[in-house]
Amino acid sequence: MKFDTKVVRASSIPDPTTGSVVPPIHQTATYVLEEVGKDKGYDYTRASNPTRGLLEKHLAEIEGAAYGVCFSSGMSAVDSVLKLLKSGDHIVCSDDVYGGVSRHFNQVLVHYGLEFTYVNTSNPDMVKAAIKENTKLLWVETPTNPLLKVTDLNAMNKLAKDNNLLFGVDATFSTPVFLRPLEFGADICMHSTTKYLSGHNQIIGGAILTNNQEIFDKMKFVQKTIGAVPSPFDCYLTMLGLRTLHLRMAKHNENAQVVAEFLESHPKVSRVAYPGLKSDPGHQIAKEQMKGYSGMISFELTGGIPAGKHLMNNVKLCFLAESLGAVETMITHPATMTHAEVPAEERHARGLTDGLVRLSVGIEDKQDIIDDLDQALKGA
Ligand code: PLP
Repeated sequence: MKFDTKVVRASSIPDPTTGSVVPPIHQTATYVLEEVGKDKGYDYTRASNPTRGLLEKHLAEIEGAAYGVCFSSGMSAVDSVLKLLKSGDHIVCSDDVYGGVSRHFNQVLVHYGLEFTYVNTSNPDMVKAAIKENTKLLWVETPTNPLLKVTDLNAMNKLAKDNNLLFGVDATFSTPVFLRPLEFGADICMHSTTKYLSGHNQIIGGAILTNNQEIFDKMKFVQKTIGAVPSPFDCYLTMLGLRTLHLRMAKHNENAQVVAEFLESHPKVSRVAYPGLKSDPGHQIAKEQMKGYSGMISFELTGGIPAGKHLMNNVKLCFLAESLGAVETMITHPATMTHAEVPAEERHARGLTDGLVRLSVGIEDKQDIIDDLDQALKGA
């Protein structure tokens, strides 16, 4: 099957008992055994569930992975990957990762003996210099949240292989429509399925995709042991959302390019980060390794913080909201919302200024999005 067909059909398997085109939701905690020691492949939903299994198959197929493991959030998926490590291990991580990820690393996992170094993974020399004897994992987000920094996955894969590191990629912003990290040698691809994959602001979820059976076995073990599993209903909603992923991503990409160009030419905008812009430092690598630039933009206004706040408080169509990757355009203030818990000093050192605005461009008519931003920018 070609990619678009897999997106639509990978979990579209008619129910054998009724012929139902939409797979049933197996909303059950447990399963009756036929006799002691004989079940029908399921014994308890924390361990496995048919609806979740179908979503895992669907996600694995579109990622080109042999295995998929789903979690109750993107964060629990990241946490589960980190459970592959042991106290004393060192992790090299992209410096502009989602604030919830660095919060988890710096405020929870450091207490369990894990050590983290954050570097600009867009610069392979900096990554190389950060690798130590006890480094076990290279964790890359591309493009990053919120500065949209792009990392060269071929260069990272070489460093990971040369140094015997586990190589994981959070590809939440790219989606398998535009980038499939396993094709670049990554051991693990991770998604917050809350975002583009489900696509309609309807669930919180996460997933790990891999071709490595040992990693898969460990992730399945962590999944059933910790129990951070998505509900069957959330899996069902995610599968319905997934079926239009390729169409939605094409529209997100088309709209974001036009909105980014509008913002770049606007006199009140001082800086725009979008990998699809020729002026963007990540443009060349993105062009080489991605099939599109996705729908996320971040930008700053010449009027700084007050202007940014004016804009965010005066949009009418765009939702002022925390999340991203859904059909509705959403505008966010990273310094007080998604990245509020990154200490101010660290935020500023990362280039994540208080005036930065993040835009998740939806799939509405692009002119409506531009008109809304234009009217809100007038008083900014
Ligand atoms: N990774 C990235 C790039 C994200 O943007 C997010 C959330 O915004 C996460 C991981 C965490 O995902 P979740 O909110 O589903 O736990």
